[in-house]
Amino acid sequence: MSRPNIVVLGAGYGGIMTTVRLQKELKANDANITLVNKNDYHYQTTWLHEISAGTLHHDRARIPIGDLIDFNRVNFIQDTVLSIDPEGQRVQLEEGELTYDYLVIGLGFETATFGIEGLLEHAHSITNINSSRLIREEIESNFAKYNNEPEERDDLLTIVVGGAGFTGIEFLGEIANRVPELCEEYDIPREKVRIINVEAGPTALAGFDPELVEYAMNRLEEKGVEFRISTMIKKVTEDGIVVEKDDEQEMIPSRNVVWAAGVTGNSIVGESGFEVNRNKVPVREDLRAPEYDNVFVVGDCAVLMNPETERPYPPTAQIAIQMAELTARNLKQVVHGNNELEPFEFDNKGTVASLGNTDAIGVIFGDRKLFGRSASIMKKVIDNRYLLKLGGVGLFLKKGKLDMYH
Ligand code: FAD
Ligand code: NAD
Repeated sequence: MSRPNIVVLGAGYGGIMTTVRLQKELKANDANITLVNKNDYHYQTTWLHEISAGTLHHDRARIPIGDLIDFNRVNFIQDTVLSIDPEGQRVQLEEGELTYDYLVIGLGFETATFGIEGLLEHAHSITNINSSRLIREEIESNFAKYNNEPEERDDLLTIVVGGAGFTGIEFLGEIANRVPELCEEYDIPREKVRIINVEAGPTALAGFDPELVEYAMNRLEEKGVEFRISTMIKKVTEDGIVVEKDDEQEMIPSRNVVWAAGVTGNSIVGESGFEVNRNKVPVREDLRAPEYDNVFVVGDCAVLMNPETERPYPPTAQIAIQMAELTARNLKQVVHGNNELEPFEFDNKGTVASLGNTDAIGVIFGDRKLFGRSASIMKKVIDNRYLLKLGGVGLFLKKGKLDMYH
């Protein structure tokens, strides 16, 4: 019998971990493995807020695919997926077409825009290396412009962050640390700069431990962040944003609008004929698409109910990695002719969110709360553990956060 073709789409947490594990678990004769990714690197999405603020260089977050994959075992194709045809078992790429016996979709997330006018044109989002690098450059360029303008332009020094979920809060922590450096670099008095967060809900970090939320907001306020809670972004223009609170609208002039107000699955998945909810496939317990026994979906393109909370698991790297490990094990079973697949069981390691370099909040071991430096050390331990898991000690030493105790 000929070897089955396993095709993995995307080299984010879900796709790369599936591929690395398949490479380890399958023998060369078991299957042909192909990985398709837009770039020739994997990147740490969980560090993008640092890149966006300019507190971490983007090269620290990028790992060449060749450092993770043995090209003798895995056929790597650097290309962009355009569409998937699950009936015909084909994937259309920008520069060709692939057929598969088994498919793993790990194409990640897109920014949710909720149809808000002007958002796509005038706001930036923290989505990938390119978008994050652009945010860093634009903010820096606006600071550089400030002292070259004939009139005082407060809009150049006003940074607006839409959404106070984890992404918004983590970016606020980084940008609040970066602003004093930018002020020094461009001869700008710190008091001229405003960092405004606009959150539609009644609190930041909805659903998270209230004591930790209060700590986070206090710490960010001490660093100069102004919170506008229960306030909705309604429109974005070239000149700034329009917000609404209690039916009153206000225009906030800003040239630095960062939208961090939610994510959906990749629209390619939504447009490829799968049953979807916000571009996410409601997968079965074993992470296969409901209608297709040969299609597995991992990470932010999958949605699965948590039986304990009766709510979907959130789209996180932690879950994408665990989904990938399971999928590699299940694919091993399938290629060996065993169709009894393991169900997904989430092993919750906790949640830790950074408030900028040496400060953070978190909950680990179910209910143990962490604040400040201990939380920030934990965050770096989590990042380092991932690197060890993915590429061993060599990768950890090359890319790890080794400044943990400074
Ligand atoms: P992604 O990481 O989005 O990867 C998708 C991959 O697919 C990318 O490599 C991309 O280049 C590739 N791709 C996309 N489209 C195409 C295409 N058409 N063709 C070819 N390739 C394509 N979660 C946590 O658990 N802990 C955290 O601390 C945390 N911090 C975060 C911080 C930030 C700033 C953000 C934005 C998110 C954070 N998350 C965190 C959430 C986490 O990053 C996501 O849940 C995770 O990245 C999802 O992994 P994924 O593999 O599904 O997709
Ligand atoms: P989110 O959906 O968690 O938060 C988005 C926030 O934006 C919400 O609070 C929402 O009320 C607000 N919002 C929506 N529309 C708005 C509007 N028009 N105006 C103002 N506010 C508006 O999204 P996220 O923060 O991008 O997180 C996405 C996923 O990534 C989540 O699962 C999160 O847990 C995960 N994540 C985890 C970490 C971590 O563990 N450290 C860090 C970042 C992201």
